[in-house]
Parts: sequence; C-alpha cells; structure tokens
Amino acid sequence: MIGQHTVLYAVLGRPIAHSLSPAAHNAAFSAARINAVYLAFETADAEGALRAMRCLNLRGASITIPLKSAVVPFLDEIDPVAQSIGAVNTIVNENGLLRGFNTDATAALGALQQRSPVAGKRCAIIGAGGAARAVGFALKQADADLTIVNRSPGRGRELARALESPFIPLDRLGGLKADILVQTTPVGMFPRVDRSPVPEHILHRGMVVMDIIYNPAQTRLLREAGKKGCITLSGMDMFILQAGEQFRLWTGVDPPLGVMDQAVKGALERQYEKD
Ligand code: NAP
Repeated sequence: MIGQHTVLYAVLGRPIAHSLSPAAHNAAFSAARINAVYLAFETADAEGALRAMRCLNLRGASITIPLKSAVVPFLDEIDPVAQSIGAVNTIVNENGLLRGFNTDATAALGALQQRSPVAGKRCAIIGAGGAARAVGFALKQADADLTIVNRSPGRGRELARALESPFIPLDRLGGLKADILVQTTPVGMFPRVDRSPVPEHILHRGMVVMDIIYNPAQTRLLREAGKKGCITLSGMDMFILQAGEQFRLWTGVDPPLGVMDQAVKGALERQYEKD
C-alpha cells in the first residue's frame, strides 16, 4: 500500500513519456512485496535532478538520454565499470551518498552469452554512442575480436581507439566479416520501423545478430536476419537484464525477470494501441 513508508525510485531523462522502465520496476516491486513505487521524471538537468534525489530521498534512479554522462560529475562514487565506460545508467542513494553504476554493459554481454560464446569471435558493433561504448567495453573485457562501425568517422575512430579495435565507416560496410553483429543505433526504432542501418547482403546463416532497440521488439534488421538464417536477439532481452540488475542493486533481492518481461511486453502493446 502506498503510504508514509513507501520508498520512491524513478527514471530521469528526456524524453521519458515512452519509457518502459516504470512498468518493469513497479511489477518487480509488487511481485517481491516491496513497498516502493517507481515514477518517470522528465528532466535534462543533471545537477538539479541529483540534488532532488538527495533532498527528497529517492532511493534509486535509472538514468537515460541525455543524462548518462552528464550525471557523472555530481555523484559521490562511481563503480569502476561505469568509470571506464564514462556513463552511468543506475544511481543508488545510500543515506544521501549517491553511487553510479552501468548495468547496460553486463546486460548486453549476458543477453549475447545466452546464445553464443563471445571470446575470440569477430564482433562488429554498429554505432559509437553511449550504448555502443557500454556494449564494446563488455565485449572487450570478454576477449571478443571487436570492430567498430559508425556513420561519423570522428566518433567511430574515437571509440575504436578507446577499445583498441579497428574502425570501418558505415558506408563501407560491404566487406565486413563478422560472427556476431550488435546494432546500437536508433535506426529502425518506433515510429520509423521500416529502416535498417545494415545492408542485407552482409548477413549470413549462423551469424548472431543482436539489435539493442526494444521498440519494436522485432526490427527490420532482425526480420531480415531471421530470413537469412541468423540467430537473432531483440533489445528486449538486454533491457530486461539491465533493469533486473538495477533492481538487485537497489533492493539486494533477486529480480523477478519473468514478471518484468511480461509487464514490459504488456506496456509496449498498450502503447501501440494508443499510438
Ligand atoms: P547515442 O549516444 O545518441 O548514439 C547514437 C549512435 O547511433 C551514434 O553512433 C550515431 O552515429 C548513430 N546514429 C544515429 N542516427 C543514425 C542514422 N540515421 N544512421 C546511422 N547511424 C546513426 O544513443 P545511445 O544512448 O547509444 O542509444 C542508442 C540506441 O540504443 C537507442 O535506440 C536506445 O533506445 C538503445 N538502447 C537500448 C538499451 C537496451 O537495454 N536494450 C540500452 C541502452 C540504449 P553518429 O556518431 O554518426 O551520430
């Protein structure tokens, strides 16, 4: 029951209206019988949002675009993984001490490893933004043979240098040889679902293709990859795992991943009906 002892958690970022995090976390709190609620606060003000967290005693927050790097200077502590990536997607508030973590990296790796080992495999990451950084860091740690592919060479080369990996511009993807392909750009995301950043001819039977977009769960890239006999993974798997790790960090309780998955899929269906 919501009352004076109810603990508050939130997602902070902009835009936030279509966030699926409230559905995942409120279902998890309810299933675990934890007296907490999780709300969405739209803000692009990192300093103000973190001051509010301390002042109003928000016990934890998910951090999304455009705040993942912007919150770093205002934290008291940062976990080494998040520090290396340079981005935080989770804050834990321990009596006013704000600690930052990044659960995207372990979630991406966990989702991939459910389907295929990554050590020694040729892995191409499409994109060089915040999500690509987290995925790339996790794959590098797991000894994958990485290549970074990006539209703008400047940003692509910078990430490739940080991960000590080669870089290929997106418009010269033709000769790419990869066992695993991870798509991290927003191309193909709702509502422009008819787009894919990857030419069909580089997809081949047995290739593992993960698209980290979770809305829609089946992107054009995944449909084309499925037709070519690739092993496909939706961003939904990564999304649920990253939310599960947030729940564990906040509560110390094993996340009810099945409940979270059902809640998110239900929320997504309701969004489609409305839009
Ligand atoms: P970001 O930092 O803004 O980076 C976006 C990347 O996409 C950049 O490399 C950018 O290339 C590229 N890009 C954007 N538009 C493009 C286009 N039209 N053609 C080719 N490349 C394009 O964003 P982010 O934080 O990495 O997030 C990216 C996506 O990941 C979002 O869709 C987000 O929802 C998703 N995500 C999913 C999860 C999950 O749990 N499944 C977690 C985190 C993020 P340039 O450098 O050339 O601009």
